[in-house]
Amino acid sequence: MTEIKEKCGIFGAYSYSGSDVIPLMITGLRALQHRGQEAWGISTSTINPYKQKGLLTENLDKSVPILEKMTSNAAIGHLRYSTVGGSSLRHAQPMAVGNKFAIAHNGTISDTKTLEKNLKERGISPNGCNDTTLAGYRLQTLLKENNWDWYSAIEKLAEELVGAYCFLIITNDGKVFAIRDTRGFRPLCIGYHKQTESYIFASESCGLYVMGASLVRDVKQGEVVRLDKNGMDSFSFYKGERAAHCAFEYSYFAHPSSIIDGRSVYHARKELGKQLAMLYNGEADVVVPVPDSARPAALGYAMESGIAFEEGLMKDRYAKRGGIRSFIEPKMVDRERINRWMVAVKEIVNNKDVIVVDDSIVRGTSSPNIIKTLRNAGAKSVKMAVTFPPITNPCYAGIDFPTHQELVAYRTCGANATVEKANKEVAKAIGADAVGYNGIKQLCKGIGLKETELCLSCNTGDYRCLKRTSD
Ligand code: SF4
Repeated sequence: MTEIKEKCGIFGAYSYSGSDVIPLMITGLRALQHRGQEAWGISTSTINPYKQKGLLTENLDKSVPILEKMTSNAAIGHLRYSTVGGSSLRHAQPMAVGNKFAIAHNGTISDTKTLEKNLKERGISPNGCNDTTLAGYRLQTLLKENNWDWYSAIEKLAEELVGAYCFLIITNDGKVFAIRDTRGFRPLCIGYHKQTESYIFASESCGLYVMGASLVRDVKQGEVVRLDKNGMDSFSFYKGERAAHCAFEYSYFAHPSSIIDGRSVYHARKELGKQLAMLYNGEADVVVPVPDSARPAALGYAMESGIAFEEGLMKDRYAKRGGIRSFIEPKMVDRERINRWMVAVKEIVNNKDVIVVDDSIVRGTSSPNIIKTLRNAGAKSVKMAVTFPPITNPCYAGIDFPTHQELVAYRTCGANATVEKANKEVAKAIGADAVGYNGIKQLCKGIGLKETELCLSCNTGDYRCLKRTSD
């Protein structure tokens, strides 16, 4: 079986006034584009998903005539960000499961073997399927064999699944379901759009605000929420597992305007910058953010340290793909190309001691170019302050760094590196005068959640939160 892992963004809507939700789908998916840029898709209850490669805006003109015909009061959509399996349309979502329902997934199912085995025993050959399709077909067998209602089948499926998942499902009789795993790894929220009387499900609340919808609440850990003609109701399959919200969402992945599990991403980032300044408090002339995601953190650093904040690095806005975030580009060559479109403002950094603030150092691909760019513009020294602690272990819960070897902190310091060691070794590897990472204590403080409420597996190598039983 080809193992395909999904991260992505999901969005769904159900209008109780019978309004066409397709325009809401387009607006919402566009606002979530930072979560996946390789392909997108939308399904209504006809279970005939429409999918396109690339950015939603790139394909929209040729898609409009088709989307106009999709008119529906209920739909789900998906933005894809892949690891292996390439960016082919075959793996784009939502995925049709027979003609009964379509499913869209944000996360990674780590134990696909159990799903495959269960399906093979029932004569279903899952070869070439990804984790989303496997979960979808398994759900179908549970519904069919046991004549179960949706809630019972989803509860049973959740007992079998290991990993991180938020699912949206649309059925051929027009129901929409939102499901969040029992640890709450990935974000998923519920919103309300007054003009169309629509309830909305979105990976992040930034997908709501853009259309004037309001945030109602998060989908809870181990909860399934159903929208149908009778209204909204929900069912809990939560068994008391500890939360494991992805800390990386707050530091890098999510949009700064989003509120996730009650915490503002913007304020978390700013606070993470303040934590860095308290920890290192080094002397410098100027604090410069790596655009775009590190801006709030650099502001926080500058406020706490009293060192001037300046936009000393700019992305080339006119480069074709300059707006694309380098970390989530699937090919290394693409990441490097994007990073070359970073321009230093000489007037800001020339002859200055610069503290450049970044949200994370994952592979160490972009940092050397950024440091070189600042030096070429005349910076006297370049120290890098990093809000997310050293990433020394892979992520198996929905972010694309699945191996140790690709991680610069692992390559230079091993899986159990201290912050002090990573500061020293990673500085050498990326060519900085110094590196200063936040520790886990500062990370938790900045986000405003306890260590026991966050997933920190990529920092600690402790993967107990990915086991079936609660720890
Ligand atoms: S391992 Fe790291 S990136 Fe993956 S879910 Fe946990 S905190 Fe997020």
